Amino acid sequence: MKYVSTRGQAEPLNFTDAGLGGLATDGGLLVPEALPDLSGELDRLAELSYADLAFEVFLRFTDIPEAELRGLVDRAYATFRHPDTAPTVPLGDRFVLELFHGPTLAFKDMAMQFLAQFFEYALEQRDERLNILGSTSGDTGSAAIHGVRGKSRINIFMMHPEGRTSPVQALQMTSVLDPNVFNLAIDGTFDDCQRIMKTLFADVPFKQAYQLGAVNSVNWIRVMAQIVYYLYSGLRTLRAENASAVQFSVPTGNFGNILAGYYAAQMGLPVSRLILATNENDILARFIQTGVYEQGSVAHTISPSMDIQVASNFERFLYALLGSDPVATCEAMGAFNASGRLDLQAHHGAHPALKLFAARQIDTERTLATIREADTAHGMVLDPHTAVGVAAGDDLRLPGDPLVCLATAHPAKFTDAIVKAIGREPHHPVLDALADAETRCQRMANDVEAVRTYLIQTLVSR
Ligand SMILES: *Cc1c(COP(=O)(O)O)cnc(C)c1O
Repeated sequence: MKYVSTRGQAEPLNFTDAGLGGLATDGGLLVPEALPDLSGELDRLAELSYADLAFEVFLRFTDIPEAELRGLVDRAYATFRHPDTAPTVPLGDRFVLELFHGPTLAFKDMAMQFLAQFFEYALEQRDERLNILGSTSGDTGSAAIHGVRGKSRINIFMMHPEGRTSPVQALQMTSVLDPNVFNLAIDGTFDDCQRIMKTLFADVPFKQAYQLGAVNSVNWIRVMAQIVYYLYSGLRTLRAENASAVQFSVPTGNFGNILAGYYAAQMGLPVSRLILATNENDILARFIQTGVYEQGSVAHTISPSMDIQVASNFERFLYALLGSDPVATCEAMGAFNASGRLDLQAHHGAHPALKLFAARQIDTERTLATIREADTAHGMVLDPHTAVGVAAGDDLRLPGDPLVCLATAHPAKFTDAIVKAIGREPHHPVLDALADAETRCQRMANDVEAVRTYLIQTLVSR
C-alpha cells in the first residue's frame, strides 16, 4: 500500500515512511491510495478477538512482515485492563463502546499504544533514534508518554502549561519516571507551548541534528488503529442484535476518531448513520449541517478535549468529499487558510459521504443532564465527552438500527463536571494511586531558547 498526499505535490510513500514522517512534505495529509474492501469477510472477522482483528486490518495497510506485525499488535493491546480490550455495553436502548481501558483511561491509548510499538520497530530496522517533542493540554500528552515510556531508541519531551491542565492529567504525565520521559511545565498557556514547539520544528537544521519528531493526531497510523474498534464493536453489535446496519455517535474535536468510522464504513462495515457530536465548539457540526466550514473562537467547556476550532484531520475528509482530487483539495485548503471560511454548499447534500453523517451541538446544560440521566436511570457514570455523544445520538438516531455511542474517557478523569452533574466524585484505582506517586517534572520559563538549551543538554548527557 502506498500513501499519497491530499495535496498531490509529494512523492507517494510506503507505510513506514508515512508512519515515521507524520505529515506529507507539501503540507498535505497522507492517505492510503485505496482502502481495502472487507465486505466479503465480515462473518469471519466478527469472530476475532480485538488483537486478532487489529492484526487482520493492519496487515492490509502495512509493509511490516506478518510475524513482526503480530508481535507489535499483541504488545500494544496487552496493556489494556479489560479482557475484551474495548467492550460494548448496553445503556438503556443504546450501546456504549468503552474505549478507556488503556493505560491513561482515554481513547487515545487505542492508537498511541500501537504507534509507539511501530516507532520502536521502525527505528530498530533503520538503526535510528527519535526525540519526540510535543505540547499538550491533557489527554494526548499522557497517552504518548505512556506509549513510549522505557523504549530505548526514543526520548519524549512533553510540554504542558504549568497549573493549567487538570491536576489528574498533570499527575498522569509527571508520575512516569522512566529515564526517557521528560515533562516540561511551561510558565505560560497551551498556546505558548504550541508556539515553542512550532518554532523549534521550523528550525530544520536543529530538527535534523537532534532527530526531533512529533506524535500529532494527523499521523496516519493513529487513524488506521482507530478503524479497528468500529469494526470490532460494529460486527459484534450487528450479530447480537440481528441487525443489518449499525449507527455510531462520536464526540468530536479534531475529526480523528469519527474519520476512522467513515473509513470503516468505506471498507464494508454496514453503517447507516455517523452522528458527529460537538460541544459549543461546533465548527464541524455546522459544516455537516450547512456545507460551510467557518472558524469561530474557542470556548472553554466541561469537555475540554473537544475545545478545538480548526480540526487537524478535516483535510482527509475534504479530500474524500472532493473525489480524491488533490488539486481541488489544495485550492479549498488555500481558500480556508486565507479567509477562515470554506463554502462547499455546491457539494452539500449531493455527496454520499455527507448523507452518511448527521451532526448536533450539545451545550453544557444538556451534557450535565445526560450524565444525570444515565446515572439515575441506568447506574452508569458517563464522562462529559461521552455524554455529548450520547445526547446527540438520542436526538439524531435513525429508528431501527442499533446505536453505538463511543465512550472516549473514564469519568474519573473529569471529576469537576461529574460532581456538578451528580454530586458524587467518580473514582478509578489507577488515578487514586497517583495521589501519593513520586513525580518528576522540569519547570521552565515561557521561552523557546530555554527549552532548546534543555533539550540539547539532556540529549548530550544521555
Ligand atoms: C481527543 C478526545 C476527543 C476528541 O477526539 P478527536 O479525534 O479529536 O475528534 C474526545 N474525547 C476525549 C476524551 C478525547 O481525549
